[in-house]
Amino acid sequence: MIENLENLYKQIVMDHYKKPRNKGKLTEEGALQLPYKNPTCGDVMVLYMNVDENNKIKNIKFEGEGCSISMASCSMMTDLVKGKTVEEAKQSIALFNDMIKKGELPEDEEALGDALSLSGVHKLRARHNCSLLGWNGLEKALQQNEQHNH
Ligand code: ZN
Repeated sequence: MIENLENLYKQIVMDHYKKPRNKGKLTEEGALQLPYKNPTCGDVMVLYMNVDENNKIKNIKFEGEGCSISMASCSMMTDLVKGKTVEEAKQSIALFNDMIKKGELPEDEEALGDALSLSGVHKLRARHNCSLLGWNGLEKALQQNEQHNH
C-alpha cells in the first residue's frame, strides 16, 4: 500500500516537472515580479503575481530552472493559490512548511492539492529548500504586495 502511494506521489511530481502549470511571464499591468533562488541547490525562479482589489491572487506564473523537486513544487504552488485570497495563500504556505519541516500532514488532505505528493521530502533534509523554493518566493511576493498597498 505505502509503496503504491509513494509511486503515485512520484508520478504526480514528475508530471508537474514535465508539464509545469502556470509557467511563463505575466506582462499585465501591475503584475509583481520577484526573483528568488535556493542557495543550497542552485534552483532559481522568478515569480509573477497579480493581486486584485479584493485581495485575490488573480494570476500567478513562474519561470525557473532547477531540480525536479523545486520546479514541480513551483508548479503545484501556483496551481494551488491561483484564485485564492492572500489570507488563504498564507495558510497554504504555513501548511506546506509544516509538512516539509515537521512532517505534519494537513488535517484536510485536499488543502495542499497536488503539493501533498511532496510530503516524502520531509525525510530528505537536504532537499527541504528545493521543495520550499516557490513557497518562500510566494511569501516574499505577498510581503512586497502588502508594502506596495500601504
Ligand atoms: Zn533543488
